[in-house]
Amino acid sequence: MSRGLPRYARGLEAVAYDARVAADETFDDVLAANESYAHGFRLAGLEPKAAKGLAVLTCMDSRIEPLAMLGLEPGDAKILRNAGARVTDDVLRTLVLASYLLGVDRAMIVAHTKCRMAAGEEEDVHAAVAGAGGPDTRSLAFLVAADQEATVREDVQRVRSWPYLTRLRVGGFLYDVDTGRLARLC
Ligand SMILES: [Zn+2]
Repeated sequence: MSRGLPRYARGLEAVAYDARVAADETFDDVLAANESYAHGFRLAGLEPKAAKGLAVLTCMDSRIEPLAMLGLEPGDAKILRNAGARVTDDVLRTLVLASYLLGVDRAMIVAHTKCRMAAGEEEDVHAAVAGAGGPDTRSLAFLVAADQEATVREDVQRVRSWPYLTRLRVGGFLYDVDTGRLARLC
């Protein structure tokens, strides 16, 4: 039924599950929840362009609700998340696509209070991972921010000065995980 459609337009009808998947209970809770989500699904036909022309880069911290904290609905904004809300090469690459193909003309970089990526030094995080039974991660850059506000300003500047993103208006913000309040830094 999906034959003839471009690959990106196909639904789930062609998905083939590995037999081992059936015995794996790792995701049972969320798959069950998805079953009822799909039952009352209300986003069919939503446009892929960001309705409010907005991209939001924030931390992966699970205390942050990017849509709710900005009064947004699904479809309104492109949400990018990583540890520490840092402007990485991957974020820049994504913003180029958002800017030119997905209707985005403004971007918020939102760091937050009590962020693990802004509490201490790079070495502390390597030590914490090792202390939690993890491997030696010193060949990875976690991009820990020694001065969080200065780092947000630098990251905003990195986006503003990137030649591929000349159309984008960018702001830097700090979100307070205890009050839900957002403050603009730059
Ligand atoms: Zn964080």
